[in-house]
Amino acid sequence: MKYSVNEQGYYGDFGGAYIPEMLYPNIEELRQQYEIITNDPAYRVEFDALLKDYVGRPSPLYLAKRLSAKYGANIYLKREDLNHTGSHKINNAIGQILLAERLGKKRIIAETGAGQHGVATATVCALRGIECVVYMGEIDMERQAPNVARMKMLGATVVPATSGSKTLKDATNEAMRDWINNPVDTHYIIGSVVGPYPYPEMVARFQSIISFETKKQLLEQTGKELPDYALACVGGGSNAMGMFYHFLDDESVKLIAVEAAGLGVDSGHSAATSVLGREGVLHGSRTILMQTDDGQVVEPYSISAGLDYPGIGPQHAHLHKVKRAKYVSITDDEALNAGLLLSQLEGIIPAIESAHAFAYLEKMTFKPTDNVVICLSGRGDKDLDTYIKHFGY
Ligand SMILES: *Cc1c(COP(=O)(O)O)cnc(C)c1O
Repeated sequence: MKYSVNEQGYYGDFGGAYIPEMLYPNIEELRQQYEIITNDPAYRVEFDALLKDYVGRPSPLYLAKRLSAKYGANIYLKREDLNHTGSHKINNAIGQILLAERLGKKRIIAETGAGQHGVATATVCALRGIECVVYMGEIDMERQAPNVARMKMLGATVVPATSGSKTLKDATNEAMRDWINNPVDTHYIIGSVVGPYPYPEMVARFQSIISFETKKQLLEQTGKELPDYALACVGGGSNAMGMFYHFLDDESVKLIAVEAAGLGVDSGHSAATSVLGREGVLHGSRTILMQTDDGQVVEPYSISAGLDYPGIGPQHAHLHKVKRAKYVSITDDEALNAGLLLSQLEGIIPAIESAHAFAYLEKMTFKPTDNVVICLSGRGDKDLDTYIKHFGY
């Protein structure tokens, strides 16, 4: 409980709700309602049923034998890549759409970077027959063209964000603007543990299914419910919070969060927020973000669109500051190589985001008895072009 959110929506020094006056009613409604709604037994039944029969949960916990042999530890992969739509994002999208319905909302908006959250949102909107508008950076739309087509096929409207770096943070700004203009009938499905309170907490709870299942599966497979290490990549930090959630109070579990170093931490083309960032306010919460001396947000860079974000969620900022989790970073090249290695050792092509977590194994030393869990947050289908270009297949 030591790392939980307090009554005011803060994790230590971070969090809160820094929002324009006009969004206050929406955020206040969410804050007052989300726990009541999500704790309602009827809600739980519907949520659990969709996770099971629609998403395909529980996702397997797979002992990767050849990877384990290479690194000299027992390495278990939490297979979020096998979820419907190919990543962990669907867990949160389902949680929020069921919430939006109960709040009487008729229209859903979302932002997306890699397109995975947009696809997950468009998917659940199709499932429930609700209008869906997705904001996406113009550059990301080019990088992730198949996901744009998928969203359109699912019936969503995809609106390009053409300002700034034309990537995720600009799409997020556009979505916020839409919400300000449509406060009554619209719910904004944020895709990571970012944004004003209660979003970071709400999204973390929806994703906490990852460590909830992992604990049970570890107990079945190893006789112990706690691993020695839990690793996950961090963009905004939702798959990592999901993987860390039920281990936070067990200090024996070493938590490792892997950010994108892009071309290198000091290259000027990076998204290694915990190294390069300072405290400030981004997208409605107090957190750590990459900013210039006069407080302008610095354009982040990573080869993976999902990690190309200038901040981290407020709970991560807290875990970083109090050193409960270790924040490290991995370059584009290191991640791509780790993606190739996982493909050839285990027959699993990971999302480049997830490959960042795997790349950090190279930098660790283990005891042979160590149990290591890694969140394999998504599958690599969407990244094939990038892999192909890099390796020349
Ligand atoms: C979006 C995405 C991420 C990054 O988002 P988090 O909120 O940090 O989890 C990581 N992996 C995959 C596969 C994604 O689609």
